Amino acid sequence: MQLDHVDYDVEGQVGVITLNRPEAANAQSAKVLDELDWAWRQADEDTRVKVIVLKSVGKHFSAGHDMSATNDDDPTALDEPFLTPEGQYDWETRNYYHFAKSWRQVPKPSIAAVQGKCIAAGLMLCWPCDLIIAADNAQFSDPVLMMGICGVEMHAHTWEFGPRKAKELLFTGGSITAEEARELGMVNKVVPLDDLVPATMEMANRIARQDAFALRMAKKAVNHAVDVQGYTTAMDAIFDMHHLGHVRARVLTGGMPSIAGLGAMKDGQR
Ligand code: ZN
Repeated sequence: MQLDHVDYDVEGQVGVITLNRPEAANAQSAKVLDELDWAWRQADEDTRVKVIVLKSVGKHFSAGHDMSATNDDDPTALDEPFLTPEGQYDWETRNYYHFAKSWRQVPKPSIAAVQGKCIAAGLMLCWPCDLIIAADNAQFSDPVLMMGICGVEMHAHTWEFGPRKAKELLFTGGSITAEEARELGMVNKVVPLDDLVPATMEMANRIARQDAFALRMAKKAVNHAVDVQGYTTAMDAIFDMHHLGHVRARVLTGGMPSIAGLGAMKDGQR
């Protein structure tokens, strides 16, 4: 695959996936997502790799989905899959939800290194990872309620933030700091910005010294325990609620899958 926005390197036993689109705050276009998925597959299949690191270049980890570029060739158009509710449902299933779910299921341990802003679908890059190391300037938010939807497509908020904080962040669109995210258990470690990549690589190398199969089973055990609590079952159902929001927005806007432009509309009309 021709990589324009993502780098994949192997450093020792660590596969390093780098999102490299700083000029767009690492927003995720369709091409970015395909490249990220390709890199995850490489790291999964690469026999040299025991641990995967996901990081990004620039001030911000990721500004979320690139709403203007579901098709990089024509970023101004509302693309074909988004013309109908069912088209959008299928497109988001593959490109947003299934990618994030499948990255979580890669058997090798993974660590996300997060700096600056991590907004909405930015969460869908770091949440699938097993560990999150955050720079002290990191901020996490999911303000998509303003678009008429109940949160990003991978609705792990309840597990990641805890139910009360999840509601507060969704209701207000507010953000939490790296330190708050660490207190909530979402982030493993907070380090100074300059130490982010070295600290992440140090953790990755430490994990890489462990037995690969034991690591795989430890990961599977925790993921399985969370799934028994309903993690994936809940997210599958909430994905459909998310699309109820998109469909309702189409009705209110006469076709657009978001009500973001209807800020002046009275609450009672929504
Ligand atoms: Zn959506």
